[in-house]
Amino acid sequence: MNFWRKRTEAFDFQITRKCKHCEASFHGKFCNICGEKVLEKEDQTLKNYLLNLLNAYTFIDGKFFNSLRTLLLKPGKITEDVSEGITVPYMQPISFFFLANFIYFFFPVIQTFNTSLYNQLYRMPYSGFVEKEVTEYISENNLSLSDFSQIYDMNSTGNSKLLLFLFVIYLIPFIVLANYSKQVNFVKYFHLSLEFVTFILIVPTVGISLVTRGISQLILGLGVNWNGEIRDEYYTFFLSLIILGFFVPAIRRVMGFSWWRSILGGILLVSALIVVITIYRLTLFLATFYTL
Ligand SMILES: [Zn+2]
Repeated sequence: MNFWRKRTEAFDFQITRKCKHCEASFHGKFCNICGEKVLEKEDQTLKNYLLNLLNAYTFIDGKFFNSLRTLLLKPGKITEDVSEGITVPYMQPISFFFLANFIYFFFPVIQTFNTSLYNQLYRMPYSGFVEKEVTEYISENNLSLSDFSQIYDMNSTGNSKLLLFLFVIYLIPFIVLANYSKQVNFVKYFHLSLEFVTFILIVPTVGISLVTRGISQLILGLGVNWNGEIRDEYYTFFLSLIILGFFVPAIRRVMGFSWWRSILGGILLVSALIVVITIYRLTLFLATFYTL
């Protein structure tokens, strides 16, 4: 089964067909009035029925790999193309985001977007509120703090992955701010935000975590005594630079700004990530705490 290769097929593009849905006449695979697809013989085989269900044509058409390659090599290009109506070469930006989210979901080691109860209680600007709520809850339910934090952390881990979409929404006002003088429609902002968060998921989150784990395994394998920890502030700085290196050319491409203005916008947005992640963590606390 040529799962990875595009099918070469004998489809008759010359004959005139009558649409089964709206009865218009047309040539080719889709009705050009209502968009109904011509039913082909192989659509009705079990194999293709299942592949369709899995949306595996995304892979067969190479759309996933094309989206990934374009994302990595040409920041902002997907957003720019999609807003100009070029959509065929890519996965839908929202499906691409959910696929990245899905990959992230299956890496239990990666905790970037999760926050333990300890951090919620003592490290956040809103920790006073968390402490008050949690103290009330555990005394009402006769729980110890350590019992409660076990239940909390387990639920928070799952929620942190399900709520990632909120990150895309929270980032939008800052993109609008970084871009205050340009008139851009909402969908373009939304797609740019999707592209930013998809990048953050794929490169600094999944990619860099795998690379640092690989390096620490290698160093351990060589018998060097190193615990695989990189100091947090260096790590954060390094990740911020990678994200900045993506945001700046993306802003330049999508907004058409000069380099210096793109750099300014990039710095604003990377700094905004701190605010976005804080609001996201507060949402995560509320969603976890009130559904326990
Ligand atoms: Zn039709």
